[in-house]
Amino acid sequence: MKKPLIGITVSMDTDQSFHRTSEENIQAIVRAGGIPVLLPNLETEQEIEELSNTLDGLYATGGDDINPILYGEEPIEKLGVTVPMRDHFELTIIKQFLSKGKPFLGVCRGMQMLNVATGGDLYQDIHSQHDKKLLQHTQKTLLKYGAHFVDISEDSLLYKIIGKDKIMVNSLHHQSCRNIADSFKVSGKASDGIIESIESKKHDFALGIQWHPESMLESDDGLSLKIYQEFIQACKVHAN
Ligand code: MN
Repeated sequence: MKKPLIGITVSMDTDQSFHRTSEENIQAIVRAGGIPVLLPNLETEQEIEELSNTLDGLYATGGDDINPILYGEEPIEKLGVTVPMRDHFELTIIKQFLSKGKPFLGVCRGMQMLNVATGGDLYQDIHSQHDKKLLQHTQKTLLKYGAHFVDISEDSLLYKIIGKDKIMVNSLHHQSCRNIADSFKVSGKASDGIIESIESKKHDFALGIQWHPESMLESDDGLSLKIYQEFIQACKVHAN
């Protein structure tokens, strides 16, 4: 059977002059059985539509902060770098994918963008916008090591994939999902209440994960690889 073609969204330098992504993101797709294609941050809806029609799955990766204007807020002091070309492209292609019912996997910023694209919103900076004390979500250890636990709801796609109700994950984010669209549900949470995964109630596979499974492929006994394998499996089913 033909391997599914998986579009990978990529970062841009702050001056928007270069596209780039990590080797880990590429290898995660390759090892799970997909053919990765790095996506340029195109501008027009029609170009993006033609691109999304050629792909079997979309993998939105981590990166810079998301412009809060996209969910109706002005920037607070602790907002980091935002990259308008990437924001625009990702928002557009995620909406197209969801309307086609094609499989989507988002990690870190990719999950946050999924939430914004479906009408949810974010904490621009969890530490300055939360009343209570939070865990350290920007770990100072290498990302191949876990940092905090995530509790996974049993009635979820994520639980079906992982087969456990509690796992240790890495953490490198200062933004997070706040309100979720009605058509989505929270399937994973940290012990401080921070949302660590969301998924669609109506799509077969539209999953967002706040941690970086691509950085744990060698260090968590295959749990992270399972996420990519199930994603690729969904892409195969959809492509045929
Ligand atoms: Mn975290």
